[in-house]
Amino acid sequence: MIFEVRELTNLFPDYRGAGNGSIPVQAIMTDTRKDVPESMFIPIIGESFDAHKFINVAIEQGAVAALWQKDHEVPDSVPADFPLFFVEDTTKGLQDLASFYLKKVDPLVVGVTGSNGKTTTKDMTASVLATAYRTHKTKGNYNNHIGLPLTILDMKPDTEAVVLEMGMDRAGEISVLSRLARPDYALITNIGESHIENFGSREGIAAAKMEIAEGLKTDGHLIIDGDEPLLEDAKKEFQSISCGFDGKPDYLISIEQLTEELSRFSVKGESYELPMAGKHNVKNAAYVIALAHKLGLSEKQIQQGFRQLEMSGMRFEKHEGVNGALVINDAYNASPTSMRAVIRVISDLSSKQEKILILGDMFELGEQSESLHASVAEAIDEKIDAVYTIGKDSEKISEAVASKSPQTKTHHFNEKKALGHHVRSLLTSDTVVLIKASRGMKLEELLEDLVK
Ligand code: ATP
Ligand code: MG
Repeated sequence: MIFEVRELTNLFPDYRGAGNGSIPVQAIMTDTRKDVPESMFIPIIGESFDAHKFINVAIEQGAVAALWQKDHEVPDSVPADFPLFFVEDTTKGLQDLASFYLKKVDPLVVGVTGSNGKTTTKDMTASVLATAYRTHKTKGNYNNHIGLPLTILDMKPDTEAVVLEMGMDRAGEISVLSRLARPDYALITNIGESHIENFGSREGIAAAKMEIAEGLKTDGHLIIDGDEPLLEDAKKEFQSISCGFDGKPDYLISIEQLTEELSRFSVKGESYELPMAGKHNVKNAAYVIALAHKLGLSEKQIQQGFRQLEMSGMRFEKHEGVNGALVINDAYNASPTSMRAVIRVISDLSSKQEKILILGDMFELGEQSESLHASVAEAIDEKIDAVYTIGKDSEKISEAVASKSPQTKTHHFNEKKALGHHVRSLLTSDTVVLIKASRGMKLEELLEDLVK
């Protein structure tokens, strides 16, 4: 049971329904297409829909109570004894309910934000914490003002630790999420360029990420990217732990080995193996180690957590391609920082010699989009044999590579099929192909041509 209707009247006093009887609510439902028994229905008003009109469907499906936005009329078809809690705004009501439930369960709270690597770091953190605590985490990418409260409300009452991904498109959004979640630990994975059109500059992005400190518990800690100068001030203002590869971070990471399967590294005199490729993921792992140390977890527990890691899809997903080529699908999403990071992984890869990149458009980069696309070329050197781009602004990547690294072949395609056929004809057992672009480009469709 997550709530008794009785206790909800404290939170939402404007109530109509079956007296003060006790009705247990087992789950929260915002989408009547899902069959959720004994649910509390919370009709969210979105840009293109208003879920209030589904109240009858919700009742038919066994909803036992609902929130109701005051400015909406209750249809006559809703039985007079059906418990309704009236609120000014149902989204705010959902958040208030999540905040109430979180206080009641009172787990250790870890919030994860950053331009790139949130989901990865969230999954890593949960995997490590699960060796010591009953742990709940954000499913997939449910990281906004609706997904985060739903994640909290989806937590079992005996949860001991919750790891919450916090995403944003605009200033002010992380503030709301952080004040709701009140993290004991807040992780900022990096400052990149995602959604820069809404912030103007990387400074603006850094300030928005720092909003995660607004809800931090008084004795809470920030864990941050020690290689990012824009986070210098955070170190003075809050109890913070920095992790990085250079200078004097609190956790200085030394890389021992990087392959496409795993990464070996050491921090604080302890050696770890991570079943993931990429130097950027080593840094994500270091954040998790810093957190685990604060909580008193052992080296063995941390290592076990890394071993048991289950990642969400399309992040460095390896496929056996035509003629035994290695095809890496990282088309889940992209920004200039994450694109450069993953290209460096391919560049350093020692098991395949012929290296091909298929790069598509990165969305939401605003006025600086063309130059930010061109900036990807910084990560491309003569170790990369060919760069094929598709979309609109990604043509700038091809152009920049052509002038910076003339020995790298480049070509811009307008059509996915033509691109797929061309790359297919090049594949040998010594080839590695990377596929990367924004989600909307759907570049995973290329797998049809490239994978057996
Ligand atoms: P979204 O905004 O879509 O939720 P996210 O922040 O959750 O993204 P992930 O899905 O974990 O990020 O990773 C996306 C990509 O970011 C990865 O494929 C990887 O290439 C890159 N990445 C991961 N960690 C870092 C990091 N610390 N610094 C730079 N790039 C990173
Ligand atoms: Mg994510």
